[in-house]
Amino acid sequence: MTVVNRRNFVVSAAAASAAFSLNGTMELVPAAYAQNTSQPSVKRFTIGDIEVIAVNDGVWTREHTDDFIANATIADTKKALAEGNVDPGLISMGMTVLIIKTKGKTYLIDSGTGGQIVPTAGCLLQSLKLADVTPEQIDGILLTHFHADHIYGMMVGTSDERVFPKAQMIASADEFNYWTQPDIFKEQPQRRHSYIKRIHSFFPKWKSMCHLVSGEQEVIPGVRIIPAFGHSPGHSVFHISSGADQFFYLGDTANVPALFVRNPQWHVFYDQDGPGAEATRRKMFDRMVAEKALCACTHFPYPSVGRIQRDGKGYVYAGV
Ligand SMILES: [Zn+2]
Repeated sequence: MTVVNRRNFVVSAAAASAAFSLNGTMELVPAAYAQNTSQPSVKRFTIGDIEVIAVNDGVWTREHTDDFIANATIADTKKALAEGNVDPGLISMGMTVLIIKTKGKTYLIDSGTGGQIVPTAGCLLQSLKLADVTPEQIDGILLTHFHADHIYGMMVGTSDERVFPKAQMIASADEFNYWTQPDIFKEQPQRRHSYIKRIHSFFPKWKSMCHLVSGEQEVIPGVRIIPAFGHSPGHSVFHISSGADQFFYLGDTANVPALFVRNPQWHVFYDQDGPGAEATRRKMFDRMVAEKALCACTHFPYPSVGRIQRDGKGYVYAGV
């Protein structure tokens, strides 16, 4: 295994400048050094003419359970965390949401947990305030998928009222159609039923505000939706590009880097189609490597932004 240390990831000023519009040397910090936090946090960067702000919604920490990874044991999981210099006692997942400012409009990618999943997550609105963005200023929300930790932040508490009153919702038609089909309850386990009921209550009511798309296409200036199915039936990633700069928001293509970037063959509990999600993960990671692209996954350590490199049979992630 390649030991990831800070020195491996010092990149040139030119590369850093191209990617982040920074001057001077930028150091890419290995994921193990990044810290998840439940505190409101903001990190700004630019992709060409597009301003991107990584805002924190908190941290989701969970105990080890036998079912967290379908094809790995708790011992395997703890070993991989320790090898990644991460505390193996608990599993710590970040919750990064993006603000995108392009052509005079302001968008979100995903909306976080709305404080309705775990007590340590749900600070998105405070992070928006730190970024000087009000809910009324959000023109649209690009959704990677409809799992609760990505959509509950759009809803006021447990009601169907909207937190972002003006925002159009932009999502894959496959994702919308899957979760809103009447027979979904037969297909999904009981543990998902309460949140599917929320989807059935919320989305039809706001369907006129939903812009549903099929296939890869530009959805707002400089941002393309790319189908990346597997984690959910319509899971999508977003490609942000301007001039020579590009960035990929990979949603839940992967989860904790020390586990699922190092071991792309492992299927996290939340992957609805394990082999499909793995194929997508490998395909997206290979693209990140080939294009030396900056990317972020929702549950990578905040602020999530970094690069993927190939390493033996797996990959390695280094945050910036
Ligand atoms: Zn998620």
